[in-house]
This record gives sequence, C-alpha cells and structure tokens, in this order.
Amino acid sequence: MGLGPIWRLRARHAEADVTEDSAPEDSAPAWTGTAAAIATPRAEAPPTPMARSVEPEPAAGPQPRPAHPAAPRNAEPPRIHAARPQPPATPTPAATLAAPAAPDPARSARIATLDWDALEAGIRDCRACVLCERRKQAVPGVGDRQARWMLVGEGPGAEEDQRGEPFVGQAGRLLDNMLAAIGLKRGEDVYIANAVKCRPPHNRTPERGEIAACLPYLDRQIALVQPQLLIALGRPAAQALLDREIAISAARGKRFERAGVAVVVTYHPAYLLRNPQDKAKAWEDLCFARRLMAGTG
Ligand code: URA
Repeated sequence: MGLGPIWRLRARHAEADVTEDSAPEDSAPAWTGTAAAIATPRAEAPPTPMARSVEPEPAAGPQPRPAHPAAPRNAEPPRIHAARPQPPATPTPAATLAAPAAPDPARSARIATLDWDALEAGIRDCRACVLCERRKQAVPGVGDRQARWMLVGEGPGAEEDQRGEPFVGQAGRLLDNMLAAIGLKRGEDVYIANAVKCRPPHNRTPERGEIAACLPYLDRQIALVQPQLLIALGRPAAQALLDREIAISAARGKRFERAGVAVVVTYHPAYLLRNPQDKAKAWEDLCFARRLMAGTG
C-alpha cells in the first residue's frame, strides 16, 4: 500500500502537472487540483509515531509535544529575513548556533581528510556524543556518491537505527514520493544523509551539541559528494547547514549556501505526514529547488 498516493497527483494529466511549465507552483488555478491532491490527508496517511520534525509553524495550530522532555520543539526561533537571491549565509553573532561544549578542530580537520570508507567507518565507531550510547547502529548516509542532489534530514528514527539506512520508515516513503514528483529517485543522482548519524532517544530532536559533534561528518559527506544543491529537510537540518537558528516558514523559497553549495530548506516529511496541509508548500519548495538546479531560480 505505502504512501505513494499521498504525494502522487490525482489529476488525469498528472505527469504534465508536475512540470513547471504547465503547473507553475504559484498559480492557484493550475495548482488547486494538484496541491489539493497533495495536501489532502488520505486514508493511507496515518499519523506518524515520530515525535521529531515538528516544524513550529504558527499557522499550523498546536503541535504534538515531543515524547522526550529534553526536546523543546515548539519555541519559535528568531526568523531570518533574507532577500532572494540570497548571498552566502553569513551568520550574525547573535544568531549563530552555540558552539559545542568542546569544539575539537583537530578532529574536524582529521575527518575532513577521510575517504568514503574511512568516513563511514568513523561514523559507525563514533563516540563523540551521547547519541552513541543507545544507538543500534550509526546511519552514515545512502545514495549516489556523485549526486547533484543531496538531501539532509534530522537524524535516524527507529527503523533507520534498525536498518542502518536513512529515511526507510514512513517519512522515508513520503520522501521517495516527493523525489519522484520531481523526477528523482533515491540512489540516482540523489544522496541522503542526516544532521546526526545516531538515533536520538525517543526520537527527540537532536541537541545543538550533538548536531555540532556530527557536523564534521556531514561536511565531509558534502565535500565528497560535491552536490550542486543541498535540501535541508526540517529545522534541525537547516540549522545544521546554515549554522543558525531558523524557522522553515521564513527560510523557504530562499537560496542559501554552505561551503559554496546552494542550500534550500523545506519541511521534513515526518512533519508533512502530520500536517498534510503544508504539502503544497513543500511542493513549491521542490519546484524552487528544481529551478535552482536548472539555473532559472
Ligand atoms: N527522519 C530523519 O530526519 N532522518 C531519517 O533518516 C529518518 C527520519
């Protein structure tokens, strides 16, 4: 059964609908059917059990509280107001994420030299933060190592922890359908990684220090893949890539950069499962990403 129909277009000429020429995402009439189809909660979209990826969207109404008390996920962070096109993200001191407790430049420098095998081995053996204590296994990443598209999620959930691959649970099935909607497929010109490589207990949001401890791995993955575009899925991923607090609602539709690579942000698929009314916005974000890739964004 799966989640295909959630993202699949209902319109008779569905294929045509997903092309920008025939379905500009800012054109309400052209998108009404498609967006409505995407945004409509379908019977096969049961609420996700994941507590993570609650995007703090004021308009979306009250959000479920995370299961873990150490996950204050509903606080609306300072918003960024960047014009488009956006110059490389230069965090202001006030907005910059707090440094991890013990930054280790030597460790980061060492990770920055690793090849794929050593990098993945290093991730699997990593004990740089508390997330290692309760993981079944670390989840380095998956996909085409020469991909032009690189997607970054938040961190492994239970299924990913079990299987060692990112986005293989319910949110992952939606992500696959989102990719398919723009003609992409996991593993083909797409690499998928997470901000943290080990599952946070109770699926809580990874803490800043945990994200910071894992960032050298993500940076090395980016350096090895050399994607043309990074898509941050949800707020923790966006904060990791942009080194600052952001709200997805404020950052959508803007082009940022990390290490010279274009970055766009959108909602996390797990959030979209709980908030299907925002799927149309995610579609807009994917269309924006596609325009950037085509050099027309
Ligand atoms: N959510 C994420 O952010 N990453 C995964 O790998 C799975 C769910």
